[in-house]
Amino acid sequence: MTYKGYKYRAYPTKEQAEFLNQNFGCVRLLWNKLVSAFHSWSPVGPNPFVSEKTLKNNPEYDFMNDVISYALQQKRIDFDETKKQYFNKKRKVKIGKMKFKSKHSNRDSFKIPGQALGYNSCIDFEKGSIKLTKMTPMKLVIDREFSGRLISVTVSRNPSGQYFVSVLVEEEIELKQNTGRSIGIDLGLTHLGILSNGLKFQNPRWFRESQAKLKKAQQHMSRKTKGSNRRNKQRLKVARIYQKITNQRNWFHHNLSSWLVDNFDVICMEDLSVKSMIKNHSLAKSISDASWSSLASMISYKSNWYGRTFHKIDRWYPSSKTCSCCGVKAEEMNMSVREWTCSSCNTHHDRDTNAAQNIRNKGLADLYSLTSDELADYRRREEVRPEVELPRASSMKRLVDLY
Ligand SMILES: [Zn+2]
Repeated sequence: MTYKGYKYRAYPTKEQAEFLNQNFGCVRLLWNKLVSAFHSWSPVGPNPFVSEKTLKNNPEYDFMNDVISYALQQKRIDFDETKKQYFNKKRKVKIGKMKFKSKHSNRDSFKIPGQALGYNSCIDFEKGSIKLTKMTPMKLVIDREFSGRLISVTVSRNPSGQYFVSVLVEEEIELKQNTGRSIGIDLGLTHLGILSNGLKFQNPRWFRESQAKLKKAQQHMSRKTKGSNRRNKQRLKVARIYQKITNQRNWFHHNLSSWLVDNFDVICMEDLSVKSMIKNHSLAKSISDASWSSLASMISYKSNWYGRTFHKIDRWYPSSKTCSCCGVKAEEMNMSVREWTCSSCNTHHDRDTNAAQNIRNKGLADLYSLTSDELADYRRREEVRPEVELPRASSMKRLVDLY
């Protein structure tokens, strides 16, 4: 059994949207009250006890009784869990102090456990709607149905004012059939992904393209009086441009990662510390543009679902200078050298494809502790496999270059 998420666009009516907004507000208020009580805790006391119940019983917060109580309850449970993790000494990565949620973040959500909604029965696939507590069925665009058991429902609103329903489902996922193929990926800037089989995926610099547009819109916004209606309108425009960039990027990453998981059993990639590279300012824009880490995480969780192996190799492995055929290391190589010939075995290399092949070789060696002879044998066997299919989406095909 695996957990899988599905996200649907929701179209609440005006009244429904108002009710959802009320829920976002109350959940945020509860969180902030819990955080404030946590921060003001003193060992000498007395410390007030805060929970969704104490707020509901307080006449000042009577309106808390109008919203979905499961959403409030869930938020308090989430807070308790965060608190537990905050004090957890065994955690490798420490979590920071709980922060207040701002009303102006424009990104809001609340979660309801599936049990409170009668599990799957709350969603009507035929009509395309979801029934939450205390409100009439809300319209959903259901592009994909799910078969597993519904664990939780999260309702959210993005900065552009669009509503979404995300469901977490416990599902039996059929593992993909073995293809007998493995692949190495070298991450780059002109090409987002260079594959060991000679395919190169262009880096669609959507961010750059939309950037001029975004800059203009932001300038317009800064000229408008704070808190004014016109500024608010402009803020929405800026948010929509951001949204578009995010959507395009996600589309590309989803297509590429699904294609990789469809076609290869073992996927090897460099473990890039993107953060340390972002410090270099000239590269920063392009890197955040490519957002490698988002791609890597998609490949990682999809590999998990479908029984593929995703392996990250050491960050400082000299992948571009080593000959992928004989393993001999070449002399210092300038970044401008795009092609070279190995002085030992005479193989002609494309710099990036060779790096990707090394990444794959290193990955296979790590995973199966293969000797160089075994590796050569493995690669010979792989070479006779049928060609991989190119991505089906034609808009995706346009982004592929062949070495
Ligand atoms: Zn060589």
